[in-house]
Amino acid sequence: ETITVQELANRMAERATEVIKQLMKLGVMATINQTIDADTAELVVQELGHTIKRVTAADVEEGILGNQDETDEEQQPRPPVVTIMGHVDHGKTSLLDAIRSADVVRGEAGGITQHIGAYQVNLASGNKITFLDTPGHAAFTEMRLRGATVTDIVVLVVAGDDGIMEQTVEAINHAKASEAPIIVAINKMDKPDANADRVRQELLQHELIVEEMGGDIQTVEVSAKTKMGLDKLEEAIMLQAELLELKANANRAAIGAVIEAKLDKGRGSVATVLVQKGTLNVGDIFVTGSEWGRVRAMTNERGQKLKSAGPSLPVEVLGLNGTPSAGDDFIVVENDAKAREIAAYREQKKKDLAAAAAGRGSLEQMLAKLKEGKAEELPVIVKADVHGSMEAIATSLQKMNTDEVKVNILHTGVGAINESDITLAQSTGAFVIAFNVRANPQAREMSRREKVDIRYYSIIYNVVDDVKAAMSGLLEPEQ
Ligand code: GDP
Repeated sequence: ETITVQELANRMAERATEVIKQLMKLGVMATINQTIDADTAELVVQELGHTIKRVTAADVEEGILGNQDETDEEQQPRPPVVTIMGHVDHGKTSLLDAIRSADVVRGEAGGITQHIGAYQVNLASGNKITFLDTPGHAAFTEMRLRGATVTDIVVLVVAGDDGIMEQTVEAINHAKASEAPIIVAINKMDKPDANADRVRQELLQHELIVEEMGGDIQTVEVSAKTKMGLDKLEEAIMLQAELLELKANANRAAIGAVIEAKLDKGRGSVATVLVQKGTLNVGDIFVTGSEWGRVRAMTNERGQKLKSAGPSLPVEVLGLNGTPSAGDDFIVVENDAKAREIAAYREQKKKDLAAAAAGRGSLEQMLAKLKEGKAEELPVIVKADVHGSMEAIATSLQKMNTDEVKVNILHTGVGAINESDITLAQSTGAFVIAFNVRANPQAREMSRREKVDIRYYSIIYNVVDDVKAAMSGLLEPEQ
């Protein structure tokens, strides 16, 4: 446990120079941004005549009303939260629009919507479904990396005339890593050359076994254009929701997750929050990430003001003191003193973690585990210039499995390494095998920042060599 000189001074409402002076008396030379250990900090606090209160994780958690115990009887069914993924141009936007136009309460507000990243649709059947409208697969996994599991079900859109493409595979692999069940919507079935059976066949190659072939993956044939099959898609989602037994207690302080956040010129920091448990009310005091605030106003996607929001409802919240990140939690606490305390504690922890993590990527941790025999899988991502090389590498790697360690190929693809590859690698401790391909600038920058190893090859033999070394934990991380 450590604290910076500045932070310690802040908490005591003393000047930093005063703290530095006390430290010098103790023989510790420190600058304002340097961290000192808890014991040293305690001495300084005593010297300056303040009382010591070490904040532990348990103390902090105590103030989180969202962590109250609850009984099974208090749990009520809640609407499912769905993310739509798929290849570009396969109809994700069209499908969302078609579903949204079926919303029975939508007409009342004149149908003017604003993008807030999520919305709930009220269907004629009385069912409600919440859709997340976040951009891209990378965003989906980034959110998960921050600890948020918000998506209950993934709807994978595949155009019936086009079949499984590059980003479809990407989506499948991100969805699998999240462990959310997948429903496949085979879209554009109005087109004469659409072939749903071919899509079902192709899914098999990605270990998605559809119900028609004895598996448990539901497929629904739809057309966003003619709105054919949308009722079937709703049924499939509700069936899956039932299997998942999605429930939450609405009668408690709210706990949720940030879907999107931005700094708005006129309104200050605004965040779209998905309430996961409890009910969020105007006036509630909350912590989100290392920010806090008081709910000043809440609106839905139609711009309507709400006084309260229950489980699975996304709302745009005004009243934040800073801008959180997508995937941060959102928890209601007793009062603003508590909110400040938790936010400060988290801010400090964030700095500690950043300091500890510098120069130590997740691959390194994975390699350490492999070395100690504590990991049974080596996760890798393979990108190659042509399909043939990709297949050849995948086959060679699969042959290397031993009783102790298995090579887990999370994703293979043809083309440059993109951000989606990096987030997937980051969330799993994998490294990226680049065979005769490069990383795009964004992915390169991200890999540097997130310490994800990209290894470049032009000879398969060298790939095999490195993977063999990695399997026994003997590979040297490159960053
Ligand atoms: P996205 O990139 O996945 O969001 O795809 P869009 O929703 O933007 O759709 C891409 C193109 O496919 C657009 O020109 C749509 O009009 C068209 N499209 C989408 N769904 C259908 C469909 O069910 N049938 C037909 N014929 N065209 C569709």
